[in-house]
Amino acid sequence: MPHRFTARAVVVGDRAGTVVPDAVVDVDDGLIRWVGPAADAPPADDAEVTALPGLLMPGLVNTHSHAPMVLFRGQGEGLPLDRWLREVMWPREARLTADDVEVAMTAASAEMLRNGVTTSVEMYFHPDRIAAAVRATGARALVMATLIPMPGMPPLEQQLADALTLFRSAPDDGSVEYGIGPHAAYTVPLPVLREAAVLTREHGMLLHLHVAETATEGADLLATHGLSVPALLAAHDVLGGRVLAAHCVHMDDGDLALWQEYDVAVAHCPASNAKLASGIARLRDMLDRGIRVGMGTDGPASNDGLDLLADLRLAASFARLAGRDATALTAAEAVWLATGAAADAVGRPDLGQLTAGRRADLVHVDTRDLVFEPVGDPADLLAHLVWSGAGRHVRDVWVGGRQVVRDGRSTTVDVDDLRQDVARRAARLAEG
Ligand SMILES: [Zn+2]
Repeated sequence: MPHRFTARAVVVGDRAGTVVPDAVVDVDDGLIRWVGPAADAPPADDAEVTALPGLLMPGLVNTHSHAPMVLFRGQGEGLPLDRWLREVMWPREARLTADDVEVAMTAASAEMLRNGVTTSVEMYFHPDRIAAAVRATGARALVMATLIPMPGMPPLEQQLADALTLFRSAPDDGSVEYGIGPHAAYTVPLPVLREAAVLTREHGMLLHLHVAETATEGADLLATHGLSVPALLAAHDVLGGRVLAAHCVHMDDGDLALWQEYDVAVAHCPASNAKLASGIARLRDMLDRGIRVGMGTDGPASNDGLDLLADLRLAASFARLAGRDATALTAAEAVWLATGAAADAVGRPDLGQLTAGRRADLVHVDTRDLVFEPVGDPADLLAHLVWSGAGRHVRDVWVGGRQVVRDGRSTTVDVDDLRQDVARRAARLAEG
């Protein structure tokens, strides 16, 4: 049945920061059919009508996440990275079961939906269980089959073959797409990265890996090969497909030129980069070079919120601080980085904007809150979203036209049950 939404305003999610006041969004069969001012709307006599007091914006696209790590949120707080990994993370992950991952992902997916994040790129163990979790909450995900040499994991060749099998098993409704997620160039051998790249190019899959997150991670590779990680990836034929690189904090001009040449997209994770003291990525330089960039939260053990809307404030703040320039990132661009630009970064033109033909992933932000006033110009809503907005202002969410959050509550899963289950599992994993 066709569905008409009316709202105080529609935030389109495009680069120009278009805001349509007193707007209508028509949805049918999971897709957006029409968007524009109410005064110009076509007749819709047979449509169900939902009148919303706030603004409608596209479902946010989180370009980098390890969401099942809600099991480890806040653990090892304040430790340096090496001790945090050796003493806190790895012992817990060694005890992790597939059920733990599915329960944690279900809880985290519900949390993301509650924050207006309708799609996330997930890189973690047990990708099939991550997909099952997302289908239970009604969200979308691009689930990477993680490629990492680790005790307890099959040989890398087998991991690659399994990834292709998974890719072919994906449902055709746009809810889950599988890709390949080699952890990084310093953990996965270059020939395997190259094989993964060849496979993803051949099948149009997303290849997602960490690049230049810390200042020192590429030091051994530089000493061995005399090349930066981006140059090494280019030299080993890893670039050129649908490649999404997370973090990209320590990039020189030559590295950025390679990203531009090979159209590598960047998952920008300012909250994680700050918490782990990794550095400030060259966001303005990337955008000026035409590099595709989307916002990411990173995992909840290194963010810790899964609140992409709140992270926009960090993205804008850091870009301005780094450039000592209050115009270095506008509010309109910041919103675009979590919507249209993020969908573009992950190679999904069916998501990320409220325009006719795209999937009806809609977020209703309740603007009956003092932080959303005053609005002299409709574009003021973008400033309020970035500088004062957060997931707590999200009231309702639809994915493919189906309501998955109503009045701030999940319509699909029991979040109180899930929270208790996550707490029990986290306690068991911490015991050892
Ligand atoms: Zn990560």
